Amino acid sequence: MGYASKVYFIKVAESDPADAVSARLAELVDKSRVLDAVGPGDKTAVKMHFGEEGNTGHVRAEYAGIVCRKITARGAEPFLADTNTLYRGRRTTSADHIKLAAEHGFTKKACGAGVIVPDDTKKGSVTDVEIDGEFFKTAKVASIFLKADSIVSLAHFKGHIMTAFGGGLKNIGMGCASREGKLAQHSEIAPIVYLERCEGCMACVKSCPADAIRSEGGRIVIDPAKCIGCATCIAECVRGAIEVDWEAGGMKIQEKMVEYASAVLLKKKKHLAFINFATKITKECDCLAKDDPRIIPDIGIFASNDPVSVDKACYDACINASGKDIFKTVHPDRDGSKQLKYAAKLGLGDLDYELIEL
Ligand code: SF4
Ligand code: SF4
Repeated sequence: MGYASKVYFIKVAESDPADAVSARLAELVDKSRVLDAVGPGDKTAVKMHFGEEGNTGHVRAEYAGIVCRKITARGAEPFLADTNTLYRGRRTTSADHIKLAAEHGFTKKACGAGVIVPDDTKKGSVTDVEIDGEFFKTAKVASIFLKADSIVSLAHFKGHIMTAFGGGLKNIGMGCASREGKLAQHSEIAPIVYLERCEGCMACVKSCPADAIRSEGGRIVIDPAKCIGCATCIAECVRGAIEVDWEAGGMKIQEKMVEYASAVLLKKKKHLAFINFATKITKECDCLAKDDPRIIPDIGIFASNDPVSVDKACYDACINASGKDIFKTVHPDRDGSKQLKYAAKLGLGDLDYELIEL
């Protein structure tokens, strides 16, 4: 980019009342002009994580509503969107996911925008995007994000077991991927079966499109040579007996996630805005079905049109606030700077930024 991107910032403390934060968020959106990336007539995807059941770290519905109404005021049509999860929970299927989002306050009435969670099994819901990555030549992305005229990422900035931290890059890279795309980022090989949880219902065998699962004397076996990594069996097993092999290929997950992010971001340049909430910063992500405690005090909300700068600004602020790389402290095997450096290398944004506090 050649010049430092601007990152706008408002301080937020845990004790701040929600209506005061709402007013400051509206001010941040207006003064930062990040929504200049949204044009009149745009269909704008507001990429969210609606939070797993019992988790309270996710961006609150009222804050999403503020951003959606600002998008509408620009003559655009916002919709709130996320993709289904790789693991079993309340966000595995589109119907359950939308229901949970509503329970968390994400409704058209409250937010001024409907909720869309595409079903990967429906024709046309996933698009293969050609990329020239080190790990992928094709990224499998939910089509709604590619069809949108502009994308506004609303991300909770927090720790993550695999990627050290997650912010805007993860919200797009992992969050816009189809289930098959998510599995490809998490693991290089087939899922694994935990036989002690298996009750032999055979649903996985019947659902596997590659005929890669068989029962051998009542033991479920996955043939890695046949497995195409579609992740159907993970969603199908109601016993949670089939899981991603979290260790396999896991050390390169940040780079893979960034390559997936590039499949979306490089197609939408100049039509992107990122708002990161560095509040209720937890050790793990919002996929955890429990209320994870803070690991550092709240910092604030950051806004930029540059996904690398906004994540770097949040990362730096967390280091400054804790006097150390807090994410490395809680996840010693992970180095979050990897995703930032690789994203800059792929041209997704700038590591240098100018921080402007409002
Ligand atoms: S779907 Fe799950 S419980 Fe049923 S046979 Fe497969 S692994 Fe076992
Ligand atoms: S990931 Fe897909 S192809 Fe592989 S075993 Fe499971 S259902 Fe079959």
